[in-house]
Amino acid sequence: MKKTLLFSISLLVVALAGVLFWQLFSVKASQTAQRPIKVGRHVKNKVINKSGTASKKEAASTPAASEPATEAKWIKSDTPIKFPILMYHHIADVVGGNTLFVPASEFKMEMETLKQAGYYTLSPEEAYRVLTTNEKPAEKIVWLTFDDGYKNAHDAAMPILKELGMKGSFFIISGMVGDEDKMTEASLLDMKATTGMALESHTVHHVDLGKASTADATMELTTSKQYLDQLLKQKTSVICYPSGRYNDGTGHIAEQAGYKLGLTTNPGLASSADGLFSLNRVRISYGHTASSFLSLIGDH
Ligand SMILES: [Zn+2]
Repeated sequence: MKKTLLFSISLLVVALAGVLFWQLFSVKASQTAQRPIKVGRHVKNKVINKSGTASKKEAASTPAASEPATEAKWIKSDTPIKFPILMYHHIADVVGGNTLFVPASEFKMEMETLKQAGYYTLSPEEAYRVLTTNEKPAEKIVWLTFDDGYKNAHDAAMPILKELGMKGSFFIISGMVGDEDKMTEASLLDMKATTGMALESHTVHHVDLGKASTADATMELTTSKQYLDQLLKQKTSVICYPSGRYNDGTGHIAEQAGYKLGLTTNPGLASSADGLFSLNRVRISYGHTASSFLSLIGDH
């Protein structure tokens, strides 16, 4: 009896040592500068906290060493989750005071600000999971969206997101691909092949879905989805309403067409309480400082 117990304990010690060694090894193998610190904290948690009851905040912001960096721990929230969906258009020098432009240097400052504040950027699939299960992969979450499929989204925004390891979702007007200031099919394919980038629908002709007939709205939503599905070999799941215009029937038409989420330009944080096909967004115009940017998205 005593021997069995001793044997069990030594087995446990060997197993723990194995886990510890493996995690330390993972730290060395990690190439990012921030990761070793995070992983180190996680190792500490595991050893000290025998009951495994790490605080929610800690667990949410600390990826497990045994999982790939992209796999986050999802934590159920006790209160309904609300989070900012940021809305950008042009990432370029401001032309004629147009608020749809944010200079690349300013955009980079905003992305670095998000990163330093501990924000996790969501993919469309992750945003859907947050909204339908009320669980989240980190304490602070944000969804970055870019409307209209401009060339500068590919040339200026994407490299910054890539450099910072952040995700972005780009809404394409399928009938305007390759137009003057819009991305070409080659750019769309390049974006699709880049980790963290998602391409979703912004209709075929950028029509007013609030005024379009049911037949027209159905065509705009299904045709643009088919185009993206075929070109990018994906299941396009988000529709972003042009100029934020929609009516009581739009959500139903979108759902019938196979979409899972619909984005508006109604200001505010996104919440499932508003309906999955009428989600609020936060418009980002040029001229922000790090602090005005953070307070705009509700981070005080
Ligand atoms: Zn638009």
